[in-house]
Amino acid sequence: MGIGEDSFTGNMMKILLLLGFVAVALAEVTRFDGEKVFRLKPVLDDHVLLIKELANSMEVDFWSPESADLVTIDIDVDLHVPAAHTDMVYTILQQSGMETGVLIEDLQAQMEEQLDNRTPDPRVHSYTKYNSWDKIQAWISSISSSNPDLISRQVIGNTYEGRPMNVLKIGKKSSSTKPSIFMDCGIHAREWISTAFCQWFVKEALSTYGSDSEMTGLLNQMDVYVLPVFNIDGYDFTHNSNRMWRKTRSRMYSSSCIGADPNRNWNAGWCTTGASSNPCSDTFCGSSPESEIEVKNVADFIRRNKSSIKAYLTIHSYSQLLLFPYSYTFELAEHHSELMTVAEGASKALRSLHGTQYTSGPGAATIYPAAGGSDDWAYDLGVKYSYTFELRDTGRYGFLLPESQIKPTCEETMLAVKYITSHVQKNLY
Ligand SMILES: [Zn+2]
Repeated sequence: MGIGEDSFTGNMMKILLLLGFVAVALAEVTRFDGEKVFRLKPVLDDHVLLIKELANSMEVDFWSPESADLVTIDIDVDLHVPAAHTDMVYTILQQSGMETGVLIEDLQAQMEEQLDNRTPDPRVHSYTKYNSWDKIQAWISSISSSNPDLISRQVIGNTYEGRPMNVLKIGKKSSSTKPSIFMDCGIHAREWISTAFCQWFVKEALSTYGSDSEMTGLLNQMDVYVLPVFNIDGYDFTHNSNRMWRKTRSRMYSSSCIGADPNRNWNAGWCTTGASSNPCSDTFCGSSPESEIEVKNVADFIRRNKSSIKAYLTIHSYSQLLLFPYSYTFELAEHHSELMTVAEGASKALRSLHGTQYTSGPGAATIYPAAGGSDDWAYDLGVKYSYTFELRDTGRYGFLLPESQIKPTCEETMLAVKYITSHVQKNLY
């Protein structure tokens, strides 16, 4: 063996080793062994202060409300605490006299329990599993090509990491522009029940068109645009690296922290309240309105189709809420009473199936003020019927809602969505 060959082999070895390291780094999965989710019930200013101090002194993950700034008296705080701090945090909380419970004993164990043991038939898409982005992408292609009469799809742009954002247009083909509804799922990466709902909605629309008079009427008269996964990069990251990721995956030169909150990044009172200008925060509003390419792509699409879009529905979890503008101000929306009546009717329809209780109202007054949200932005653009759903549950499982609850959650949510769409259809403007 000559010297040349030897050094060639040596170099190859180095390259392979390097590739090995890269592969290991890419495949790194965050584990959550021994981490807990606490529920705190602050009733005194001191309690609120204590929670904020905890958040300042260690890395904690706010499940609800979405950040430490939003904590106030008399709202439940669901807080995910890393294993190293759980004992200390529990002791401090006990000493403060604040009512404290444990929602989730061991986050890793709960994450594994969220997924049931069924191995679905790989030839059919499962609507009762939390599907990976790869599976959803394959489903988007196959469902649109096998239903050309009712579905067309278009790419409205790419995500930060270059994944195509497909919008499905569902409705009977027409030579003229029909009035429409826009619905997105998965703005926040870890809210998996949300993405499951968009898939469920598309399946239901296709399978009940022609038999269910309400759905048939809707799709004959209107089109429904569905964006099955808004924050695809983040969603993929929750499947492959960190289940608890919320934000986009964009990078900035000025910070080592990744991503912005895509529901604080819209040009609606941007970053004035309930949002953070710290890039490391989970509610980081971004460097400017629409700095996140996913937000810009959707905003551009809605602006382009502004004259046809009559309703905007955005699906999140969790808390069982049906919210409408405004969130960036306590001022009431011009159409407040109509929006409220429709929300109450939709919540009632939802409740009729499994008894699930929803609270409805304008975001700021119902939960807390938060600026830069998509529903406020769509409303101010002129889309009157603008609603945010926060699906199941109220914290028992939080973001880790078991797969066994996908079906009942989607079934009841369909009733609320159909209640709203039917109102929109009867009140076209
Ligand atoms: Zn959300």
